[in-house]
Amino acid sequence: MDRKQMYIEAAKKRLHGNENLRDKMRGCKFDTIAVHGLYSMKEALDFNQGSIVEPIYLTTSQVYRDADEMELALEYKIPSWIYTRISNPNTYYLEAVLSLLEEYKSGVTASCYVTSSGMSAIRTVIDEFLHYDRKVDGKPFNFVAPSQIYGGTYQLFSERKVKESNIEWRKVAEASNIQEWESLIDENTRFLYGEIPSNPVLSFFDIEKVARLAHSHGVPLIIDSTVATPALLRPLALGADIVVHSATKALTSSGFGTSGAIVARHNISAKSDNEEMKRDFCNYLKRLPGRDYGANLSPLQAVLTINDIRTLRMKIDVMSKNAMKVSQYLESHRNIEKVHYLGLENHKYHDIAKRFMFLVDSEFDDQYRKPINRYGYLLSFEVVGGWKNARTVFDNLSMIWRAADLGKVKSVATLPTISTHSQQGKDARMKGAIPDNLIRLSVGTEHADDIISDLERALAVLD
Ligand SMILES: *Cc1c(COP(=O)(O)O)cnc(C)c1O
Repeated sequence: MDRKQMYIEAAKKRLHGNENLRDKMRGCKFDTIAVHGLYSMKEALDFNQGSIVEPIYLTTSQVYRDADEMELALEYKIPSWIYTRISNPNTYYLEAVLSLLEEYKSGVTASCYVTSSGMSAIRTVIDEFLHYDRKVDGKPFNFVAPSQIYGGTYQLFSERKVKESNIEWRKVAEASNIQEWESLIDENTRFLYGEIPSNPVLSFFDIEKVARLAHSHGVPLIIDSTVATPALLRPLALGADIVVHSATKALTSSGFGTSGAIVARHNISAKSDNEEMKRDFCNYLKRLPGRDYGANLSPLQAVLTINDIRTLRMKIDVMSKNAMKVSQYLESHRNIEKVHYLGLENHKYHDIAKRFMFLVDSEFDDQYRKPINRYGYLLSFEVVGGWKNARTVFDNLSMIWRAADLGKVKSVATLPTISTHSQQGKDARMKGAIPDNLIRLSVGTEHADDIISDLERALAVLD
């Protein structure tokens, strides 16, 4: 056997081992997958000097035995990480665990590609469908997405795509109205996009129906699932083609740095003759456009995120229960006009969220023994007396952190008007249902009593 053949045989064996492990992990419960991912004892002993956690590969590049091995690696014919901009053992372990969690018990096969931030993940995905200089019948490409989305995504869409690149964003005014989505689609539509639940107003729509609509027009449905995380919602199981995450948020609940993730089913729907791209979207992005764009995640950051994911489900359960208690407390408060939380029955999207948002595996949890609805950690509230009073309450928080962040084990409050949603201007904020007296609160894992006491003190200042 020549050397090249030998390397290929060894690679096949390794890939086969990975696939067996992946199949074995698919049979495990969510928490087990979150803890182990594809980092097994065999992986530790064969490749990592027996280390029981993933060692951090803070290195740029991989060494090869000879020209044959190098050539095969660079042609992507053997598994190899080559160079950290392209791949790295740590990003591989993170991609492995996230793809397993997003496809959990769905029968869907998924791959993942992790990036330096949520925004780079979103940009990398949408650019794949919006090759700028192409038009059909002289008309620009368009995409359809509700206006209730994260402020950064709003800017990416309205500034970078609409203004700078002549792409049309057809805005859905009411995300839950499927007819409205449908009326906006035409032959130049490249994808449908939505955030579930949306940040900060928690709008919601029936993913299954929107996915069917996308597929009937031959385009993908892309879902930003940052706020839900796979502990509460797995859009691929409901028909979405691609999920994007700001892994900066609840997936890295410690707050140790930024990261992003793209998870896609194999064989996505898309108006493209690029069969390789459609077959395995994430591996394609990683190997080709991702390699050229260079939005790769640092190996150190990948390990920090992996470490937080291990306990994702239990943290999301505690954060959700706390958020429910806090929103019930705020609802009856004299200095509050309105509380927006999906778990409250009076929330516009409560009924639809109730159909989709469950704590994964609660039926196997001795505390619950049945499917349990959980509505996440994000809520917002409107302070009586408008903008000035909202600022006063915000300034008087003493434990809850004033910061533009969410999904952390520490409770964090934000004024969307001057932070996450400031650049888009008042008109757009009104369309996105973000009034000036709104405070967004991301509830952490502190004891609920202490979170409530802090809010009580801050709200009492208005009396
Ligand atoms: C924060 C956030 C993003 C952007 O992610 P970064 O990691 O900050 O780049 C995208 N979508 C949602 C819903 C977010 O909350």
